[in-house]
Formats: sequence, structure tokens, C-alpha cells
Amino acid sequence: MQIHLDAEKCQGHNRCYALAPELFDVDDFGQAVLLEEGDVPADLQEKARLAAANCPEYAITLTD
Ligand code: SF4
Repeated sequence: MQIHLDAEKCQGHNRCYALAPELFDVDDFGQAVLLEEGDVPADLQEKARLAAANCPEYAITLTD
């Protein structure tokens, strides 16, 4: 599974960080930052799905 964050869509609600702090951080402007682009480790894939499903801006996309 690959994860991608579209910084242009992100509005900084930080739901992703609250749900999956292993995958996301928040920058000084309150915008989400991916800790690691690309491959999501198997043990974090459920959290990645949760974060993507809860992003109100559809800024997080997952691909196989
Ligand atoms: S939940 Fe979506 S809009 Fe909110 S900070 Fe995370 S990526 Fe950005």
C-alpha cells in the first residue's frame, strides 16, 4: 500500500494526526505532513485507511 498526501487540499483539521500519529505530523502552520512518503508498513495499513476515510478534504489517497 502506498500513501499520498495532497498538501493543496489539506485544510489542517489534523484528524489524520489524531488517528495515526505514526504516519502523520503537523507542521508549524497546522498542515499535515507525511512522516514517510510511499510504502505503508503492514501494521499501519489499517490506520492509513482510517485516516484517509476521515479526512474531510479527501487529501489522503491510498493505492495498492
Ligand atoms: S485530516 Fe486531511 S485535511 Fe485534515 S490535516 Fe489531515 S490531511 Fe489535512
